Amino acid sequence: MSEQIKKSWLSPLNSLKNRIVFKFMLISTPFLLLICALMVSLIPYWYRQQAVKALEDKAVSITRIAAYSFGPALVFEDRKAIEEVFQSLSQSPTVDYILVFDLQGQEIARYMRNPDLTIQPEELKKSGLLPGGMHLNQHLPISAEGSAVGYVAVGLSLEQLNHQLGHMKRVIWISAAAIFLIGLTIIYFISRLVSRPLRHIAKTAAEIAAGDYSRRAPVTTGDEVGQLAQSFNIMLDELQASLKKLDEARETLELKVEERTKELKEQVEEKEAIARKLRESEELFRSMVETLGEGVVVVDEDENIIFANPAARRIFNVYEGNLEGHNLREFLAPEQFELIRQQTFRRKQGYRDIYDLELSLPDGSKKTVIVNAAPRFDHNGRFVSTLAVMTEITERKKQELALAEANQRLEEAITELEKRSEQNRFLVEMGDAFQLAGSVEETVEIINKYARKLFPEESWLLYLRQEKEKFLHLMSHREASGGHEEIIEIEDCWALRKAAPNFFEDPEKDLLCPHLRGTVPEDSTVGCFPLLSGGETFGLFVLFCCPKKIISGAGWTAERAVAQKNELALAFAQRVATSLANIYLRQSLKEQSIRDSLTGLYNRRYLEETLERELSRARRAGQPVSVIMVDIDRFKRINDSYGHEAGDYLLQMIARTLQRSVRSEDIVCRYGGEEFTVVLPGLSLTGAVERARLLLDSVRHLELGFGGSIIKNITISAGVSSCPDHGLSWQEVIQAADLALLRAKQEGRDRVVVAGKSEDEKLDG
Ligand code: GH3
Ligand code: MG
Ligand code: MG
Repeated sequence: MSEQIKKSWLSPLNSLKNRIVFKFMLISTPFLLLICALMVSLIPYWYRQQAVKALEDKAVSITRIAAYSFGPALVFEDRKAIEEVFQSLSQSPTVDYILVFDLQGQEIARYMRNPDLTIQPEELKKSGLLPGGMHLNQHLPISAEGSAVGYVAVGLSLEQLNHQLGHMKRVIWISAAAIFLIGLTIIYFISRLVSRPLRHIAKTAAEIAAGDYSRRAPVTTGDEVGQLAQSFNIMLDELQASLKKLDEARETLELKVEERTKELKEQVEEKEAIARKLRESEELFRSMVETLGEGVVVVDEDENIIFANPAARRIFNVYEGNLEGHNLREFLAPEQFELIRQQTFRRKQGYRDIYDLELSLPDGSKKTVIVNAAPRFDHNGRFVSTLAVMTEITERKKQELALAEANQRLEEAITELEKRSEQNRFLVEMGDAFQLAGSVEETVEIINKYARKLFPEESWLLYLRQEKEKFLHLMSHREASGGHEEIIEIEDCWALRKAAPNFFEDPEKDLLCPHLRGTVPEDSTVGCFPLLSGGETFGLFVLFCCPKKIISGAGWTAERAVAQKNELALAFAQRVATSLANIYLRQSLKEQSIRDSLTGLYNRRYLEETLERELSRARRAGQPVSVIMVDIDRFKRINDSYGHEAGDYLLQMIARTLQRSVRSEDIVCRYGGEEFTVVLPGLSLTGAVERARLLLDSVRHLELGFGGSIIKNITISAGVSSCPDHGLSWQEVIQAADLALLRAKQEGRDRVVVAGKSEDEKLDG
């Protein structure tokens, strides 16, 4: 309450304090005060000075009068006169004391208006105001007749003066106060007058400040204040224009701000919604990661684990404490850690990978996990960490391995079965082919073909024994290391010797056949398979087994591969042997059907077949074919003379002689009994005659020892014919030659007769 009163009381003063008038008054007040102070202080001072001076003059006058008056009295020591002088001088109310001293300074007489007044004697000897300011002392010598006789001190009282001065001071104080107030009032009005235009401006400014921009300050004078008002008005115009623009700008700005605020608000709401969803999603993902069966691990670029979910702790067998802070190195064998380092290198390049990892846990156990790893980068694109999702597949891996092994075994078995089936098929095919083979050469060709199919990777050698010879000849081979024997003996091969397969697999244990020395490739085993059938050896099949690629490719053991190949080789050898036996048997049967058993020469049936073939071939080639028919002269006699056996022996010897005396392409046959036919393909009649003569000569020189007897002078007769000279069919040609032979017999034997010639043309042997 008191505060309010104080405020209400102070408010005019405060409002005044804020006015120029007050400031004018405040500035002029010290001046007015100074003037008043000067008036109050200087006027009494000046007046007192003047009064004291007048009093001094009066004191001097009175003292002189006294000094003058006291002179005779002192000379005459007239006390009465002194009293009279005292009486006279005391008439003046201002004289307060008079003291008379002799030359020695001894007081002679005194007058004291106030007997209580005490004055120090020393002070009396000086002229002037006494201490206390109440008396003015005047000290003068008293002279009589020109010489000093004593001193007089007169003291005038200043009481009256002081009294007057006090009155005067009161008057002056009142005057000064009046002057101060009047001056202040005048200054107030003058300042109000001077500040009136400013007040107008201030008032206008206040109205403008209140929002009325139409107001203008009145310009009443041309002085600085008028100019100020004018400038103020111009400024107001500009201000009003600026304000208008500002208003417009503000309105635009407000609109924009409003729009922007709305946008921002929407954005903020949107962001809040996103953040909320993100939090929810994060929460969802966190709970998912926490409850996930798969291990989730985040590792930095140095393989330090910076996050792991409970499943990951279970995988790493870390049930107490955190997995975070551990390094993957603690859970991995060096080579697996190296794999992780390589994987991290790929993560840095931005690749995602799925790979298997084997954990070697501190408790010694091992686990296999499948890792799905993805890289994480910060907003600057710098690699931060790897996020790895781990699924334990230890059991699955074991099952997979077992399954894979089983599969592999199955596949191997199937492959082996297929292979065996194919090999069996080849063996059957080969058997069929052997059935069609008409000669050993064809058989060798078939062997060659199927050996290549059955042993596509291996090297092999095929030796065949011909006609129960002691030697075996190399008939075929495939990529053996070289240096193999072209001809071997039974004794050269352990297998041939024991008539059973022989294997050279371990140089420490097994014996190497002599025929194989220096020919076995490194790391090869060798199997020698005799081609046996019916206890007879037809040849030898040598198999070099097995190139490394077969063994590694098949996924088998080397022993198994070798055993399988040897088994196959054995089956192959058996079939080949059987086939060879068949071929030889067939050949033998065929030979038997076309050959004469006594002489070994072809028989007549063969002659007829061959001759027909040779004639048709010769006709196509435009070549002649000649025929010599031979008959032993008087053979009956040999039989009769030496016996039938000797006759047989002679037949054999003549057959051999004929055989030796012709070319390899010529065919010698036993036509029957002691008659022989020689077919000479490509030879003309003349050539045939020449050859017939040669035959006659060869036989003629034969001497045969038989049963202690020497059979000699054996002769033969020959009839020669030729195609096409004596016919185109074999019958015509044979007949012509036969007729010629008959003629040779008739003409005396031991001679050559050309078919169809007259007696003159007979040739003499
Ligand atoms: P020619 O000079 O006229 O030919 O008188 P030849 O005695 O040789 O002729 P011939 O036809 O009269 O007699 C053939 C004899 O050959 C009759 C037969 O006993 C004999 N002969 C036939 N085949 C064989 C055989 O296989 N062995 C033996 N030892 N004698 C045979
Ligand atoms: Mg005869
Ligand atoms: Mg005969």
